[in-house]
Amino acid sequence: MKIGILGGGQLARMLALAGYPLGFEFVVLCPAADACAAPMSEHLCAGFDDSEALQLLASRVDRVTYEFESVPAETVEYLNDLVPVYPPPQALATSRDRLHEKKLFNKLGIDTAPFMAVESLDDLQQAAARIGLPAILKTRTLGYDGKGQQRLHEHSQLSSAWEEIDAAAAILEGLVPFERELSIIAARSLSGEMVFYPLCENRHEAGILHFSTSLQDDPMQELAEDYAQRLLEHLDYVGVVAIEFFQLDDQLLANEMAPRVHNSGHWTIEGAVTSQFENHLRAVAGLPLGSTELTGHSGMLNLIGELPDIDAVLAIPGAHLHLYGKAPQPGRKLGHITLCMNSEKKLKQALTQMPGI
Ligand code: AMP
Repeated sequence: MKIGILGGGQLARMLALAGYPLGFEFVVLCPAADACAAPMSEHLCAGFDDSEALQLLASRVDRVTYEFESVPAETVEYLNDLVPVYPPPQALATSRDRLHEKKLFNKLGIDTAPFMAVESLDDLQQAAARIGLPAILKTRTLGYDGKGQQRLHEHSQLSSAWEEIDAAAAILEGLVPFERELSIIAARSLSGEMVFYPLCENRHEAGILHFSTSLQDDPMQELAEDYAQRLLEHLDYVGVVAIEFFQLDDQLLANEMAPRVHNSGHWTIEGAVTSQFENHLRAVAGLPLGSTELTGHSGMLNLIGELPDIDAVLAIPGAHLHLYGKAPQPGRKLGHITLCMNSEKKLKQALTQMPGI
């Protein structure tokens, strides 16, 4: 089977790496000439609005999937008339807009931080009065990794924050004094079978994921699975989804969903029987899903902006290095390291040798 991927970054690269053992082939559509998935696939170097390239892609593949949620809606709609696109376009449309996403969570009984839609400075002032400060102003679309966000502590900041986000449609969201940031990776197949990975705990720096650890028998697992199941069933979902939560006491507040493989699931390559990448492909291809059981205790560190001493990393027992073939640049995700150990104690020990932990 040939699978088309919209976007040619590291997620597409890792999908291709997971797919070759299953006999899949890949065609990647990405406007960047140096797309890091290009060496693992046939690369159509064109824009997402290039209808000739979209037709060519559809004629070459059996299914299309995507690696990021900012793919234009028209691109997905156009393709979906020619070839099945998974996860379903409705999931993509929901996740692209923070307001729709949060409204859907609440409609499905999934808790969130308090939020209000903001379309003007006047709205922002009213929302700040209703929700209270501190709060976060987030653009509804095109915000990721902490981009398009302003933290507000005082009412005097409101007008400059509104100017800063360039008067884009936004939401104001209460700042959650969370105890932990958690995410669940789940998958649903074409036949409706669902699997859930054990929760992982995430640490962000400057809004970018820095470190994730897989958890065992976490008390919040059942609730997270219940929430994921509601979302997957409602969207008639096919593929892998990630839902990020804030934990506050015994509550899980959903922050966002990603209708794709996710950075907080990279540890599953070595740390679970079937990786998130393989399960996404299995789902998209209409195959049975694989076991999500843990193979050990895992911790994943993102390599952002610069690379560490590779020799030192590989000298750590149980360390697995994944480089994405990208030129170093500040803030750029260049690769990740996963430590997978057979005990929590060993993982903690090994972590002390990791760069930047
Ligand atoms: P986001 O772009 O929504 O994924 O936010 C990036 C990061 O900012 C999150 O992972 C949190 O660390 C932090 N953050 C976002 N929203 C909130 C919130 N409502 N309360 C507290 N921290 C938040």
